[in-house]
Amino acid sequence: MKVLKFGGKSLANGSPLNNVIEIIEEEQRHSDIAVVVSARGNSTDLLIKMYELTVEGKEYEQVYDAFVQLQDTTSHGLEVDELFVELKEILDSVKRLKISSDKLKDKIVSYGELLSARLISHILVANGLNAVFVDARNIFKTNNGLKSSGIDHLQSQGLTKAYFDSLEPGQIPIITGFIASNDKNETVTLGRNGSNLSASLIANFIDAEEVQNWTDVNGVYTASPKLVQQAELISHLSFKEAHELANFGTTILHPRTINPLMEKGIPIKIYNSIDRQKAGTIIDMDGSKKGIKVVSAIENVAMISIESKDITARVGISGRIFSALGKYNVSVRLISQASTDLSVGFVVDSEDSEIAKNALIEEFETELENGSILGISLNTNVVIIAIIGRHNYALEKAIYGLRKNKIWMYLISNSISGSQISLVIDSGNLQKAVNIVYEQVFEKDKSLEEVYAT
Ligand code: ASP
Ligand code: MG
Repeated sequence: MKVLKFGGKSLANGSPLNNVIEIIEEEQRHSDIAVVVSARGNSTDLLIKMYELTVEGKEYEQVYDAFVQLQDTTSHGLEVDELFVELKEILDSVKRLKISSDKLKDKIVSYGELLSARLISHILVANGLNAVFVDARNIFKTNNGLKSSGIDHLQSQGLTKAYFDSLEPGQIPIITGFIASNDKNETVTLGRNGSNLSASLIANFIDAEEVQNWTDVNGVYTASPKLVQQAELISHLSFKEAHELANFGTTILHPRTINPLMEKGIPIKIYNSIDRQKAGTIIDMDGSKKGIKVVSAIENVAMISIESKDITARVGISGRIFSALGKYNVSVRLISQASTDLSVGFVVDSEDSEIAKNALIEEFETELENGSILGISLNTNVVIIAIIGRHNYALEKAIYGLRKNKIWMYLISNSISGSQISLVIDSGNLQKAVNIVYEQVFEKDKSLEEVYAT
């Protein structure tokens, strides 16, 4: 059994949707398949928008009309008025009561996947395939109330297996991604992009042969093709490498998606359904054995620096920074403190930057008052350039290239294993800096001496 997962952009109206139908028709000729679908196009964003409007008691009808139009059910001859009516009833009651509730939000957002799976199964049946709509709330159970992530593996595996056993030979289940239900049978969602997790869990539960993750990109690249023209597709990665890349800003599957596959050694293949070809990237236990080399840019980060007056003020400062931030659940992406320098710099996600700054002002209140700490400053115009995987002299080459081009690095950090280097620079220099670093690091045949000589 192969599990095919299709993302929102792959399921957009017109040729993307037609491609998906063709891919399913083609794959089911060669093996048994199960299909997991996301909401189509930007349906989830529209649903969230409607929820937010109604919570404030505002009109949502315009967004609702756009949502209904996007589902395009009538042109495919699908009758799902009852779903639209239900959705409208929930929206109206939220609007009336102006209540914000995770429970109602999850319920509202679930209609994206419900409508998507209904439509895909309808089209396949109309084309003569034995496809069947599956509401994942009947097989995926969570065990911690309304919390989105806590899938109860044991219970869900039992339900999933029993469901698959009940299928007719060759029948194709079209399963809603992203949604599950809790012990009270209330709808819960698995977080943004949660359909990937749904597909991995199903594959894990039924011991699938592989997962095909059909998206709108060709796979994983040596750098973002948007930033670096010569970026190349990486054909083969190990689960471990995929983890590393995901942590370093490369758009790839979230570690929680990879874990259920790694546990069972099930390969996942990333393919582009829009530009249909099967080059893609395969992620499995072995990888290519050559090791990865990627230059990636991590945007939406901010740098905080704490400047102290003298060396004595620095004692224990890092420990206090970590615990102050930990109290507010802020994680530090990178920290750098030179042994003689009087400042400590570190990087957090932009969305956490204000919280982080305030937490530190609170923590170092006394020092700020008595002047032993001169100030705490926040710079939101920075990005991290990360070099991931083993490279010869990568750090030297990158620093040399950036200096020569007068690009200043605020912070530099080099992992002990030598397989990860992070450079913090001004966000205005992003494109130029990524290209310089990429060229330096991927200059395949040049020795360090030759680089310095140019
Ligand atoms: N529809 C949900 C989202 O947009 C889940 C998914 O696409 O995986 O986040
Ligand atoms: Mg998506």
